[in-house]
Amino acid sequence: ATEDVKILLLENVNQTGRDILAGQGYQVEFLKTSLPEDELIEKIRDVHVIGIRSKTKLTARVLKEARNLIVIGCFCIGTNQVDLKYAADHGIAVFNSPFSNSRSVAELVIAEIVALARQLGDRSNEMHNGIWNKVSNKCWEIRGKTLGIIGYGHIGSQLSVLAEAMGMSVIYYDVVNLMAMGTTRQVSTLEDLLHDADFVTCHVPELPETENLIGQQQFEHMKTGSYLINASRGSVVDIPALIQAMRSGKIAGAALDVYPNEPAGNGDYFQNDLNTWCTDLRGLKNIILTPHIGGSTEEAQCAIGIEVSQALVKYVNEGTTLGAVNLPEVGLRSLTMDEPNHARVIYIHQNIPGVLRKVNEILGDHNVDKQMTDSRDDVAYLMADISDVDTVTIKELYERLESLSCTIDLSSL
Ligand code: NAD
Repeated sequence: ATEDVKILLLENVNQTGRDILAGQGYQVEFLKTSLPEDELIEKIRDVHVIGIRSKTKLTARVLKEARNLIVIGCFCIGTNQVDLKYAADHGIAVFNSPFSNSRSVAELVIAEIVALARQLGDRSNEMHNGIWNKVSNKCWEIRGKTLGIIGYGHIGSQLSVLAEAMGMSVIYYDVVNLMAMGTTRQVSTLEDLLHDADFVTCHVPELPETENLIGQQQFEHMKTGSYLINASRGSVVDIPALIQAMRSGKIAGAALDVYPNEPAGNGDYFQNDLNTWCTDLRGLKNIILTPHIGGSTEEAQCAIGIEVSQALVKYVNEGTTLGAVNLPEVGLRSLTMDEPNHARVIYIHQNIPGVLRKVNEILGDHNVDKQMTDSRDDVAYLMADISDVDTVTIKELYERLESLSCTIDLSSL
């Protein structure tokens, strides 16, 4: 029953998420902060669901104590604070919210394009220092200029719509062939994009192939007096090469929202010994430096609260794993379990040969309306809707499935 489901929400999860979970009738405990490990272990023993943001580390040591835990909601983008493999191996699903802040990033980039074209950062700094410096030399409108988007995914495509509305001509480069929005155009090579764009902006994921995607060679391909924006990941742009390209005048301005070796919390960053280029970067003209705030808006936080809590509800109530980051994605549409004598069986098991035969021997005596199964690495996930079963039969099915040696976790709804 829903009122038996215990949820612990840490780190001030957004109100939108809390409302959705409380609205289901679950028991929700809400804390504004993260917890020291020993207190976390004490609390996690008791709960079925935990909601966290980036500060709570759910290591194998902590998860080992979480005997009742079935699902983790990361109310943020990243999931590296969770031991995903341990969670999967123990049938604990993990959800996050990868795309709720796309619009916020796209809007930030639009602001930066205008700010760089008009040297707003420098003029503002000068005024803060009492200097009136009215210039029009090398200050531009963005209307009619070409924006080159590298990576045309959630953010890149959203950005292209906004940029076109401001009169820019938009081209993009992506490793996948993608449908162009509006009158934008996909180009076939990165060099083509760099050659034609007045503004180049990066929206690719962090991958071995995207490390230093923009380095010395790429700056050479860019137009003299063009601009570079990176709000994707710090590994994508070679910062010493950018410093050189800006000093030489090849690049007229840049905006960076992401950096190598970003700190875990607020405070000093540029004293960081790992980044020897800090002083050089800070000394450049017309460069906007922001502390990874691309997705940091109230709207994005609300959207994250809604997206993650809805995924948690669907998992708890229906066993649907669509969007899970560590389990196979399985979901059956019509849910018949509310009808009398219907049950949904969720069977998480080791991905080894012969399991399905054994499972179907057990389920085979009943009327299986629908069944779906998928695997991911070492773990497989089976969902089956069965009709014509009473509570005694369900209990019996449950016990027989549970006794199979490959069982990781099992529930019937
Ligand atoms: P996405 O997965 O929707 O899109 C990424 C696109 O890049 C895809 O279309 C993919 O095919 C393409 N791609 C992959 N490798 C490529 C390559 N080598 N060359 C060209 N294209 C390539 O991702 P998204 O949600 O649009 O996010 C883009 C980036 O922005 C990610 O790195 C993400 O981590 C980052 N991000 C930053 C912030 C922030 O606060 N600054 C917020 C959200 C996301």
